[in-house]
Amino acid sequence: MKDKFFTNIFGNKKVTKEVIKSEIRINNLDVTVLKKDIKNLHLNVLPPDGRVRVSVPKRLNEDNIRLFVISKLPWIRKHIEHFQSQPRETPREYITGESHYFKGARYILNLIEYDGKHKIEIRNMKYIDFYVKKNMNREQKERIFLRWHRKELEKELLNIFIEWQNIMGVVIKEWRIKRMKTKWGTCNTKAKRIWINLELIKKPVYCIEYIVVHELVHLLENNHNKRFYGYMDKFMPQWKSYKKELNESVLRYYAGI
Ligand SMILES: [Zn+2]
Repeated sequence: MKDKFFTNIFGNKKVTKEVIKSEIRINNLDVTVLKKDIKNLHLNVLPPDGRVRVSVPKRLNEDNIRLFVISKLPWIRKHIEHFQSQPRETPREYITGESHYFKGARYILNLIEYDGKHKIEIRNMKYIDFYVKKNMNREQKERIFLRWHRKELEKELLNIFIEWQNIMGVVIKEWRIKRMKTKWGTCNTKAKRIWINLELIKKPVYCIEYIVVHELVHLLENNHNKRFYGYMDKFMPQWKSYKKELNESVLRYYAGI
């Protein structure tokens, strides 16, 4: 889908002056309308479940917007179906035998109950040994597990941010790991601050790198335009295959976050 009605998984912060947000319902479809200082209409179907968002020039009235959305309904339906047909992870129970993704590989969880302090170890490139105290409930185990994810992602990001700021000649003020529902990363170009989704620790390291490079490129070009993709091609010529891999990978089960 490479016309202007692209699906966009990245939440770059566009520093536009004023945005008026509203919701309209068209043929059983809830559509978020963003009125902005722009010339063209942009239609997006957003993961994880195919939310529809349309950005329009301020002068357009509701009838115009409806006509536009209706003319694109087949395209919208196709994209919603795409998201809904993607395999989704079910909530983890943290029990022995369960599979868990980590840095792009699938591991089998091995729960070991013991009296010591909890710890998590990878064994034989196949198992995640999860040592916990007896009678811990799912939430407690999840908290420990996510803390481990965060630590591991932090280690990767420390190196990636240092390396890519050097390569690209840009400097950021701060980066943080966040739990986000629909974005792999965001960049606040004014504050020079980048947020990275905790979920990325499940993906291969080159996918984590790709998101970092994407967000760093926003310091050179705010919008997803030709110039932006020119930088992507220059710094990371294989970026398209990484993007494809991320888009096709298993989506997290988002309930309750
Ligand atoms: Zn972006």
